[in-house]
Amino acid sequence: MKRRVITFLLTLVLCLSGCSQQQGQPEHHRDVFAMDTYMVLKVYSENGERLLDEAEQELRMLEGRFSVTRPDSEITAINRSAGKPVKVSEDTAALLTEVLYYAALTDGALDPTVYPLVREWGFTTGSYHVPEQGKLHSLLQKVDYHRLSVQEQTVVLTDGSMIDVGAVAKGYAGEKLAGLLRQKGVTSALLNLGGNVQAIGSKPDGSAWTVGIQDPENPEETSCTLRIRDRAVVTSGNYERFFEDENGCRYWHIIDPADGCPADNGLCSVTVVGESGVACDALSTALFVMGTDRAKEFCRQHPEIEAVLIDTEHRLYYTKGLKDDILLSEHYSGSVI
Ligand code: AMP
Ligand code: MG
Repeated sequence: MKRRVITFLLTLVLCLSGCSQQQGQPEHHRDVFAMDTYMVLKVYSENGERLLDEAEQELRMLEGRFSVTRPDSEITAINRSAGKPVKVSEDTAALLTEVLYYAALTDGALDPTVYPLVREWGFTTGSYHVPEQGKLHSLLQKVDYHRLSVQEQTVVLTDGSMIDVGAVAKGYAGEKLAGLLRQKGVTSALLNLGGNVQAIGSKPDGSAWTVGIQDPENPEETSCTLRIRDRAVVTSGNYERFFEDENGCRYWHIIDPADGCPADNGLCSVTVVGESGVACDALSTALFVMGTDRAKEFCRQHPEIEAVLIDTEHRLYYTKGLKDDILLSEHYSGSVI
């Protein structure tokens, strides 16, 4: 939790400094705690307060649908369906359709059916522990995104599996909120959903937003900053949510569906930049799971993806489309993927 507050504050400070030169439209901002994270919504508009009310309401509604712990959410209904079809909202159907697309694209590095493992390690219950090998093995038998299907607004999940959309929910919410605000005429806003940033347009003075990417080794500092307009910037990192055992060994919340353990394939942070918040969120988690070599290869094969990877050896790699918009901190050097 302390880390999350730091993430929030760090991004907040960067955003505040980025917003100091406002011109024309007045700034309105709102702090919200939702989806288990601190969020800051900042909108430049005459109607800012009303728009923020609507945005917050939308966030709460999405949280109510996507939560894996709330007994009345649509995800819980799917997890309790015992293989029977479940009718869901357009949002949940759209989100799960996207999840299945990215699960297939990343060859199962992103897999929503990994949830029983996430829970077993304690990341959704708070009772953190290292599971027995036998337990991991038995839970892994039911991990396979092919066990989930979506037809229009009907979802079927094979009996015995469970899902969680924690890897994509904030990205979806950021994208949806941005769409809603744009529709209402907003041309300048910065939505920070617990480190998932979604920008509308540019700063009120027309210059680009500046978003800091945390240094995984020292999350109070930045490894680099990115200049963006109308983009989402989403980071998955092993410092965001973790626990340590009695030997000081660290276990984090991104699980490798290949072995049911925290993904430990050479990366400690992955940031994806793009127009779609949900795509960035899905891909940042998936690239983290893939690890350094596979993630770099994936970026080369999909040149439309813009990403920053930081490995466990303090090396930073970025895709060439970011070359003009990335500024590395003094203690980082980087190379193009
Ligand atoms: P993120 O912070 O976006 O990378 O998402 C991490 C969250 O997604 C975790 O807290 C879990 O709820 C869930 N998760 C963990 N590993 C995976 C995975 N391999 N595929 C899909 N969801 C995952
Ligand atoms: Mg994600």
